[in-house]
Amino acid sequence: MSLMFGKARTCSTADRGPAECNLVLLGVLGCGKSALTVKFLTKRLISEYDPHLEDIYSSEEIVDQQPVTVRVMDTCDQEGPMNSERYLSWANAFLVVYSIDNMESFKGCQLYLQTLALHNKTFRPQTPIILLGNKLDMDRYRQVSQCDGEALASRFGCLFFEVSACLDFPSVQHVFYEAVRRVRRG
Ligand code: GDP
Ligand code: MG
Repeated sequence: MSLMFGKARTCSTADRGPAECNLVLLGVLGCGKSALTVKFLTKRLISEYDPHLEDIYSSEEIVDQQPVTVRVMDTCDQEGPMNSERYLSWANAFLVVYSIDNMESFKGCQLYLQTLALHNKTFRPQTPIILLGNKLDMDRYRQVSQCDGEALASRFGCLFFEVSACLDFPSVQHVFYEAVRRVRRG
């Protein structure tokens, strides 16, 4: 009897979910953070985007039949994780991006993941992290294998996806929605 009551309460909380979700995109310059942000927000690719523009964008979305205001901080660090205070406590989830055709960008991710792991040691609730290999359309020039991506993600307890800001919109949207789902699960 008490078990049934407990379950009903859980369901009703999950139905509402948080109404807002702050996502932060991190990664070295040129890995495609802005292209992914613009794709998610507009379904379009904008191929040349001001590389020094950092901003927060907001979009009303419906994820699993529940409305949510998704805010996306498209960061642009010049030299790795600097001044991370501006996003660490703001974020509900992190998307750490690299480009599959650029090993340096993959190495750059590791610095971000270490910074986030340190943050998650002291911050509750834990902030979900997604590792994201971008530029999947550049498979011919791949320098980072899918296995390498998966291994790094599992080392840091992240979800892992490979996408392309140039290819279909649904797979990019799926990544952002998975971040929202992770946040809802708490
Ligand atoms: P950011 O510095 O991480 O914000 O990177 P940008 O979004 O500005 O992208 C850097 C460059 O990579 C631009 O020329 C983009 O057009 C290009 N780019 C971004 N995403 C992709 C992708 O998925 N595939 C390919 N081929 N190019 C991409
Ligand atoms: Mg950018």
